[in-house]
Amino acid sequence: MRIAQVSYHTNPVAPLGGRQTGGMNVYVHELSRELARRGHQVDIFTRLDGERPEVTALAPNLRLVQLPAGPPAPLEKELLAPFVPAFAAEMSRFAADEGQSYDLVHSHYWQGIAAGEPFARAQDAPHLVMFHTLGEVKNRARISEEEPGERIRRERELAATADAIISACAHEHDLLARYYDADPARMVSIPCGIDTDLFRPRDREESRRALGIEQDRPVLLWVGRLEKLKGVDILIDAVAQLEDPEVLLLVVGGEHGHELRGELEEQARAAGLAGSVRFTGAVPHEDLPDWYSAADVCVVPSYYESFGLVAVEAMACGTPVVASRVGGLVSTVTDGVNGFLIPWRCPEPFAEKLEVLIRNPELRANFARSARDSVQRFRWDEVGRGMDELYGDVIAAHARKEPVA
Ligand code: UDP
Repeated sequence: MRIAQVSYHTNPVAPLGGRQTGGMNVYVHELSRELARRGHQVDIFTRLDGERPEVTALAPNLRLVQLPAGPPAPLEKELLAPFVPAFAAEMSRFAADEGQSYDLVHSHYWQGIAAGEPFARAQDAPHLVMFHTLGEVKNRARISEEEPGERIRRERELAATADAIISACAHEHDLLARYYDADPARMVSIPCGIDTDLFRPRDREESRRALGIEQDRPVLLWVGRLEKLKGVDILIDAVAQLEDPEVLLLVVGGEHGHELRGELEEQARAAGLAGSVRFTGAVPHEDLPDWYSAADVCVVPSYYESFGLVAVEAMACGTPVVASRVGGLVSTVTDGVNGFLIPWRCPEPFAEKLEVLIRNPELRANFARSARDSVQRFRWDEVGRGMDELYGDVIAAHARKEPVA
């Protein structure tokens, strides 16, 4: 099958940990690799943001196609909506130039979906969509800047016209049905996958030595795109409440000069934690197993998380997770088994559970064992098989002009 993956606003193979490069990039790249491994011809379409070749071969059967839409320079996603029609037209032009059409279009994030919709129609191919985040849900969390009404209006329209809406956890179905009147007959839940060959436990002492982290300090780890919705401020306040002054918090992600990073550094200083919180900036994905393995606990204090790859990567490395009880984290972390889920977005309950884990190496070891077992269902061969089957069903349903479920 010939498959188009549409990731308009962000390049799936760009370096991770910036403001616009995180879980969706990892997901689109790895899903595409897995589908290519399964023998499908996969093209990933993304917006051209500099001087680059139009087509780059990433692996057998897998290409990255970078097409012009708006200025050929990096731009914040908030500025990219006006160029969506141009990008859709470019995808059609590219397919026509090659004299080939696609059997299925799988689009990501509302802007990519808005570009994928007319493209899929032009190809007479089914359109499968993943929102990754939803404007209405972000606004209800009331923590980041207000998402524009235009985004929410478009999400509603796009949810209504897609052949199938995939979400990484069933909870997102409820949100789509509740806030967007999306049709349950078109919704399918398939979890995200992680690279279980890369994310596996490494020797803690060696990892700490390699990273220059003291052997005798309890280490907490946060990893991600640094943005307000991730709740790092809650975590810093929680660390300030811990009894052990030796605790070290590592904050991985967010380049120097990043505004929120400056604010968080100031918060840590003001709380007397200058020596207890270390900001490392972004770390290459393939180095992260050392960071997860070096940590005693990985903390995911997000206000919202549609799946939360970081929690699963940490567990795959045998590191227990303390996470907010929100979104996809509810489907990956099992409270009291491989970590703790915190229902309140405030520092005290995080501090309480972190204290429990820091003081109790036996509990940490038990959680670590369960954590490794619990990630088996997120192996890419497993997840890719599910997606492959869904693609086949969607194509068949499209041919019969019926909904997928
Ligand atoms: N990540 C990385 N290096 C960094 C920061 C993050 O490789 O410095 C990766 C991390 O391993 C994970 C992804 O970025 O795969 C973040 O995904 P997640 O689903 O946790 O958050 P999202 O970005 O989707 O909000």
